[in-house]
Amino acid sequence: MVELHEVTKTYPGGVTALGGVTLSIDHGEMVAIVGPSGSGKSTMLNMIGTLDRPTTGTVRIDGHDVAALPDRRLSALRARRIGFVFQQFHLAPGLSALDNVADGLLYTGLPKRQRLRRAREALLRVGLSDRLGHRPHELSGGQRQRVAIARAVAGEPGLLLADEPTGNLDSASGAGVMALLRELHATGTTLVVITHDREIAANLPRQVVMRDGTVI
Ligand code: ADP
Ligand code: MG
Repeated sequence: MVELHEVTKTYPGGVTALGGVTLSIDHGEMVAIVGPSGSGKSTMLNMIGTLDRPTTGTVRIDGHDVAALPDRRLSALRARRIGFVFQQFHLAPGLSALDNVADGLLYTGLPKRQRLRRAREALLRVGLSDRLGHRPHELSGGQRQRVAIARAVAGEPGLLLADEPTGNLDSASGAGVMALLRELHATGTTLVVITHDREIAANLPRQVVMRDGTVI
């Protein structure tokens, strides 16, 4: 599903966030990315998510060499195959849970009615069928993250990437979110989760440990 080969990333200004990362993740794996703050975890996840291009090295996602794809095809690959969940949820503040999830399906070109139907199904999957009309500020942190997860999986991406998804949650809500991610993994989604939480990491079958921009 994911193949990074000797990937480096130097940001404008000169910080080398990745110093040569080689990593493979198989279809159906569930992987924790761990390491201290500043070690390059988010930068690496952004490479896997094709949100940013490497300075050198190659990134392959589901067999596609990201560097060889024109921007339009890369956007299509990202929209169809990759779901993202972030620490800060990134929900649109004025929109209901249902519309937040349905808008995540705009790229599909489906008519609104069908987008709403799929969004409803996704919110049902994450246990929020009784909160469809709530806007983000009317939801708890754990519920907001569930909406964000529903949005990430509504299009049934094969690869789900989560950057500190429990970072803003109390431990009970965080455990709920992890249980949900595990359920999604059990249905076949490849899952990559950055986490600071040692207990969460210890409970995932594979841990990738980063330090100073490399995988150790
Ligand atoms: P982590 O997620 O492990 O905390 P990051 O990947 O966010 O680490 O950051 C790795 C390094 O790259 C850090 O030194 C950080 O300051 C730097 N960095 C991250 N994003 C940028 C950016 N957009 N521009 C410049 N430097 C960045
Ligand atoms: Mg980070």
